[in-house]
Amino acid sequence: MNIIEIIEKKKNNQELTTQEIQFVINDYLHENIPDYQISAFLMAIWFNGMTEREISDLTIAMAKSGEILDLSSISGIKVDKHSTGGVGDKTTLVLLPMVAAAGVPVPKISGRGLGHTGGTIDKLESISGFQTDLSIKKFIKIVKTINTSIISTNIYLAPADKKMYALRNVTGTIDSIPLIASSIMSKKIAGGANAFVLNVTVGSGAFLSHFSDAVSLGKTMVNIGEYNNKDTYVIISSMDQPLGYAVGNSLEMKEAIALLNNQGPEDLRTLCLFIGSYMLIAGGLVQDQQEGIHLLEEVLDSGMALKKLKELVKSQKGKISQIDHPDLLPKSKYQGDIVSVKKGYIDKVDARIIGEASMLLGAGRVKKDDKIDLSVGIILKKKKGHWVESKDVMATLYYNDENKFDIAKVMVKNAFHIVDQKPEDKPLILSVIDQYGIKKVD
Ligand code: URA
Repeated sequence: MNIIEIIEKKKNNQELTTQEIQFVINDYLHENIPDYQISAFLMAIWFNGMTEREISDLTIAMAKSGEILDLSSISGIKVDKHSTGGVGDKTTLVLLPMVAAAGVPVPKISGRGLGHTGGTIDKLESISGFQTDLSIKKFIKIVKTINTSIISTNIYLAPADKKMYALRNVTGTIDSIPLIASSIMSKKIAGGANAFVLNVTVGSGAFLSHFSDAVSLGKTMVNIGEYNNKDTYVIISSMDQPLGYAVGNSLEMKEAIALLNNQGPEDLRTLCLFIGSYMLIAGGLVQDQQEGIHLLEEVLDSGMALKKLKELVKSQKGKISQIDHPDLLPKSKYQGDIVSVKKGYIDKVDARIIGEASMLLGAGRVKKDDKIDLSVGIILKKKKGHWVESKDVMATLYYNDENKFDIAKVMVKNAFHIVDQKPEDKPLILSVIDQYGIKKVD
């Protein structure tokens, strides 16, 4: 096989064979094909797209470029959850214990934060001692014992995707639905679960800003799931403003614990119950969404989900006293309030700006190896639709470095838009996609 002929074929919008796709991925991974030829190949895909079959073949070739975890020794249908990212998105911190306590095994491989969105592993590491670099053997053992465990992605999953993602980043080929879908699904398939519930976020704080793109990504990932016998559900939700009120690692951990204590914010609770109910459907525990939500409400109200979080923390060597007393989580030295300059309704709290301000305070990374400050971040006091008087506090910034605070406070102020008329309520959860199609959520 010849890479030039394959590039020509894709350039002329012809369908590639399974063998051709496998050849490209294998030979690229083993450095028999240089970056410049793969760049041309990726650009041809960017322009001409791929058929469903090609996308599925690309996904499998990338998944098989490394180890595919064998979770068959864990009984039951193992369900993995994934989010395309957002600001203040602590759903995984709630869903893992909640769904595991309900009875569905959730083995989770997760990433660290990069850019304006946070990462679940960083948030969990605000608990002293919490280990995320466990061996696969230990990971499986914990899931068998308590129904869930979470490890970081420093294990070698889908190495071809890692290499190609880095190349896409510098060749203008990130924003291609076939490439995004195969990239996400190759890592999910390599993670070894039987079913997936994927939260695709859309809006200013998300990776995608148009609903139509979220729908095409969602449909493509559901199709890949079908080709590979993995039940896949996609939930599209809005990420125009941060989820909940807390942004920043230990602050988000605290908010997740509050939710497990039945005191968390309504939007976070609604989204967690919604995604969680689909995880129970995917895990074969309930027949429909209403039944799933009921069961999860019981698990939350009875304290079972909070108990499960403590089991998880204990199994991974974290300090349980910080779950009982979240005030023991890392705290910044200083706090500063951002106040409103006029009265009116909050029309917008720009999620991307809030995420970038939190990153600037030290909560997030600009580059992969940056060190982060687990104690800093932002607590919103007002969100879309709330009324403010002049000088009302709209947000509190938690910081350790005064210079960073000076820049971040201007950003946060600019993230809030205040208007005279109460803005229209927009739904948080927009649509669900499964193998039968797309449903609008009322
Ligand atoms: N997330 C991924 O893992 N891959 C992409 O291509 C985009 C987002």
